[in-house]
Amino acid sequence: MELYSGHITKLIDELAALPGIGNKTAQRLAFHLINMPQDKVNRLATAIVDAKANVQYCKECYTLTDKEICPVCANQSRNHRLIMVVENTRDLAAYEKTGKYEGVYHVLHGAISPMIGIGPGDIKLKELVERLQGDVDEVIIATNSSLEGETTAMYISKLIKPTGIKVTRIASGVPVGGDLEYIDEVTLLRALEGRVEI
Ligand code: ZN
Repeated sequence: MELYSGHITKLIDELAALPGIGNKTAQRLAFHLINMPQDKVNRLATAIVDAKANVQYCKECYTLTDKEICPVCANQSRNHRLIMVVENTRDLAAYEKTGKYEGVYHVLHGAISPMIGIGPGDIKLKELVERLQGDVDEVIIATNSSLEGETTAMYISKLIKPTGIKVTRIASGVPVGGDLEYIDEVTLLRALEGRVEI
């Protein structure tokens, strides 16, 4: 016998498929949603559909944005010869929150992870190499200090070295395996200022 109505089961299944949401949380959220006022539910559903329909990759740094070129890349007072490589848009946001970084970014959308079959071709590495054809003074690698982040950093370093462009890695003040977005601004700034050439 089905425990819930088919519609509820479907909603629970969709929610449970999201990262970090187990079956119990999915059930709690599903019942919460069903008990919400209709207009709130509509707003949430519209926000999801609109975000998916309107968000795109910035043509320069590949962060997620509403426009062709993101606000950071469009800002001519930023140093476009200094590129910080991050794993995702959330990491970019973490550095932007410090308000102290004056360069631009390159968003990889992931990290190399042979364990789960993510290779160099699965992240925005080719796009990074293309950007380096322009005038670039330094590439700061700010991938996470997880195994995947370190593997990616080494790979990028080897890729860029022959071009003669300076390659640096943020200092190891960032906790091992820590997601950059959860690290406080002071730690991020210290990691950035303490970067070393690799
Ligand atoms: Zn951009």
